[in-house]
Amino acid sequence: VPSFNPPSDATLRRLADIVGEQNALCDPARQAPYLTEWRDLYHGSTPIVLRPGSTEEVSRIMAIAHAERIGVVPQAGNTGLVGGQIPTGPEIVLSVDRMTRIREVDRQRTSMTVEAGVILADAHAEAEKHDRIFPLSMASQGSCRIGGNLATNAGGVQVLAYGNARALTLGLEAVLPDGRIWNGLTNLKKDNTGYDLRDLMIGSEGTLGIITAAVLKLFPRPHEQVTAFAGLPDLDAALVFLRLAQEHAGPALTAFEFMPAIAIDMVVMHIPGMQNPLAGRSPWYALLELSSPRAEGGMNDALDALLASASEKNLITDATIATSLDKSRALWKLRESISEAQKREGGSIKHDVSVPITTIPEFIRRANAIVEKICPGARPVPFGHMGDGNVHYNVSQPQGMSRAAFLALWETMNVAVHDLVVSLEGSISAEHGIGRLKRAELARLKPALELELMRRIKAVIDPLGIMNPGKVL
Ligand SMILES: Cc1cc2nc3c(=O)[nH]c(=O)nc-3n(C[C@H](O)[C@H](O)[C@H](O)COP(=O)(O)OP(=O)(O)OC[C@H]3O[C@@H](n4cnc5c(N)ncnc54)[C@H](O)[C@@H]3O)c2cc1C
Repeated sequence: VPSFNPPSDATLRRLADIVGEQNALCDPARQAPYLTEWRDLYHGSTPIVLRPGSTEEVSRIMAIAHAERIGVVPQAGNTGLVGGQIPTGPEIVLSVDRMTRIREVDRQRTSMTVEAGVILADAHAEAEKHDRIFPLSMASQGSCRIGGNLATNAGGVQVLAYGNARALTLGLEAVLPDGRIWNGLTNLKKDNTGYDLRDLMIGSEGTLGIITAAVLKLFPRPHEQVTAFAGLPDLDAALVFLRLAQEHAGPALTAFEFMPAIAIDMVVMHIPGMQNPLAGRSPWYALLELSSPRAEGGMNDALDALLASASEKNLITDATIATSLDKSRALWKLRESISEAQKREGGSIKHDVSVPITTIPEFIRRANAIVEKICPGARPVPFGHMGDGNVHYNVSQPQGMSRAAFLALWETMNVAVHDLVVSLEGSISAEHGIGRLKRAELARLKPALELELMRRIKAVIDPLGIMNPGKVL
């Protein structure tokens, strides 16, 4: 078990000198935004939040932390959902939120090099300036930052077509726990020169080093994009509908999300200006998008044909097509507001899991039965990225129950649902990571050999255990 030291006053002064007094936060009021996370589950404390402005400053901070055996918690946009970015004790917080430079867009516009503090939405905007897209996309994109996206190997709504953060990254720059800078900023598509350090860093949740910059893949900007929102009789129909959409559209199918009626009810109730775009209420809904890099790519016709075919087969009961960008955004807002709406319904116990796509309906049916047994009246709100087998199996508290009493069931419910996931050969973390929240579950459920190898890798790269202690392993 690694132990680390709280920094002395003299060390705090040396650290502050690196970033300048205004970027070394010791005042609790200025620290506060860095110490609580979105779900309000974890509240941390730290002697200092450091906001370096460059890779060199990160390197100098890490060299001191290493020499003095000080724990370091990396943080980017603080939207992580497993508590990985929040300190547990005397660690220092190293936020990359000032490292917001776009260093380069390559001449062919196939990649761009950005610093770890670039906000995901700003990376989108930069790509669009060059008539390209960076397709990583999620509801938190106005706040999350590239460093956090890569550290969590983030997923989102376009993984179906473009892959997750790992698949979208060509190169990386990172500061190792001893302060050395690893420059892996290549934009090579092919590089088989041994173990892939880039892939090791991506998804390591700040436990192996600090990502300071990355080379991201860019793609041609879709010039035709059509979105549809459809009502479905049941989840089995959603599965067949997904397959039909893949057959009709092939790689043009860039998103396929599913959500239950209760999710839309909550959004309509809690998010101002939102309404169900369909006249009737269906048990389930799908939100899908078709994209083409050509302005006249035939996407409207393809979508019409798909919906007609699905309706003929009784897979959908009703549907609406967004005929303008504004209408498309409104449909996406329905989906993206689910987490926020659910938050306003009181306590919610979350499971970000993946299962083989064909078992999604079975998983949800069996999980619902498990949850009802543990907490009668609890309200499952399972939604997610159907094409990736990724279910956000979130459960809202029964109406009238106290939030605290419901949240006390978190572990019991997680254990039971995760056991089901494992029995279906799924994963207990599809995209949010392990952090603090799922550390015990990882130790319980990950095969012993895999855990052993992970621990050994960690010990080689971070022998003192100063990087994000108490997270993941
Ligand atoms: C409303 C909402 C919707 C979301 N939707 C999705 C979704 O669809 N898909 C998805 O995958 N996630 C989603 N998330 C979760 C979250 O946005 C992602 O995990 C995101 O990638 C985290 O980025 P961040 O910049 O906020 O990282 P942070 O929260 O700051 O950090 C996350 C983890 O990365 C580590 N870290 C941060 N920066 C660095 C760095 N520079 N170097 C090394 N380690 C670092 C931290 O220590 C921590 O362990 C959602 C969150 C919210 C609030």
